[in-house]
Amino acid sequence: MRSTFGIGLGVVLLAITGCQGEAGADAEPGRTPTAQPATEAELVVVDPSLAGAIDGFRTRTVVDEERHIHATWPEIPGARALNEDLQTDRAQLMADFRAEYPPPVPHQVAIPELNATWRLVGATDEVIGVLTDDYVNPGGSAAASWQTTWYDVDSDVVVPNDDLVADQDQLHEAITDELEGSEAVFVEELTDVLDRSEIPVLGFTDTGDLFVGFDEYQVAAGSAGRVSVVVPLDSTSELLSDFGERARAAALAPNIPGTATPSPNSQADPPTLGPKVDCRRLECVAITYDDGPASHTEVLLDTLKRKNATATFFVLGQQVATYPGTTRRMVDGGHEIGVHTWDHKNLTQLTPAEIHRQIAQTVTEVKTITGTRPTLVRPPYGAMNDAVRSQARKSDLALAMWSVDTEDWRDRNTPVVVRRAVGQARSGSIILMHDIHDTTVAGAGQIIDGLRRRGFTLVTVSDLIGSPQSGKTYFSQP
Ligand code: ZN
Repeated sequence: MRSTFGIGLGVVLLAITGCQGEAGADAEPGRTPTAQPATEAELVVVDPSLAGAIDGFRTRTVVDEERHIHATWPEIPGARALNEDLQTDRAQLMADFRAEYPPPVPHQVAIPELNATWRLVGATDEVIGVLTDDYVNPGGSAAASWQTTWYDVDSDVVVPNDDLVADQDQLHEAITDELEGSEAVFVEELTDVLDRSEIPVLGFTDTGDLFVGFDEYQVAAGSAGRVSVVVPLDSTSELLSDFGERARAAALAPNIPGTATPSPNSQADPPTLGPKVDCRRLECVAITYDDGPASHTEVLLDTLKRKNATATFFVLGQQVATYPGTTRRMVDGGHEIGVHTWDHKNLTQLTPAEIHRQIAQTVTEVKTITGTRPTLVRPPYGAMNDAVRSQARKSDLALAMWSVDTEDWRDRNTPVVVRRAVGQARSGSIILMHDIHDTTVAGAGQIIDGLRRRGFTLVTVSDLIGSPQSGKTYFSQP
């Protein structure tokens, strides 16, 4: 970890201790706190752009477009044991999924899907907490599981959830008292989970209380979903260990220097790139990049700038939230941003309300960060049905597919992606690539040169289409 990671932490800790003293002034010492039912929203998560701004930080993403696997997790510079733990755990998750579900056969309707995302639940120069959230949908009903991984920066050690708590008996008593009254809860299973130290999620609420989360079916009937409770902590509570107190500070006052929250709206005027190209007269193609922004995207933007070329980026909301600066650079560089959903789930497996959330949250995130509202959506895996088209129309977005698939995710080979992108392009083509792969980013210059040598003019997807109509699907220039 860089030594400058947590300037000002001492001040923050003092402030928290001060508040606690006042709040807990007339609390009874030593009593067992009563847990309260909680919703997932009460778990504090840290703005991911704090991580995205750390020098050398990157998100790792593994995508298998054929098997419908999309897994992403953070790699934090210097956090050796944490990175290893996440890497190993995520690799195992994907291996288990591949072992359980065979590759799809041609024309299979519901392809089993694995989607794994992450969030920070604490971050200072002392403690980092990562929440992983995994979703497996065999084709019907999905199962989700979550897990916190806490990390002690100084000793470079991953700390088990249990070690956030000094008094296990008191914690178990508080949880059991709250949950045993609930009809859906299986008391025996709950006791087992607590005895075996298998609580998957320990975090904090914004008032500094302890958040305890269980998996679906772990301690209650499936109808109850993921059960979670909040255990109040006051200044007299001795529930937390010393590490637990530091984890709480990391949740309440995340502190990564040099990462001041940038102003949400880019007030700069939209760039003027000269007169619009008329694709009815010229032979135009659009190069597109999905699944970012990610750490390689900056290099790609440099190349596009050097070549004075435009591209269209179909971004994920969670990546935009992690890399707001890179997202702003896309718009400032005259590129188009389209929506690729929040976290890359197959939209055809979701309810209309969930599809709407996946699209609308990403539209809002892009608009907030860049000041520009997207007009295009590209559904993950190209998976579409009437519900997806209907939600796209409601959000005033056209559906932008592709006519040239470089399959860059499969080969991860620069000459191959260059050959396919340049060789398969026709006038009016939309070319599909992914800026999460360094092998693809490395080929951008050759692709631009190659397409221009063939007489093509590079434009954004919206310019290629002309005037995209919301709810309508485009595979190439109409
Ligand atoms: Zn994608």
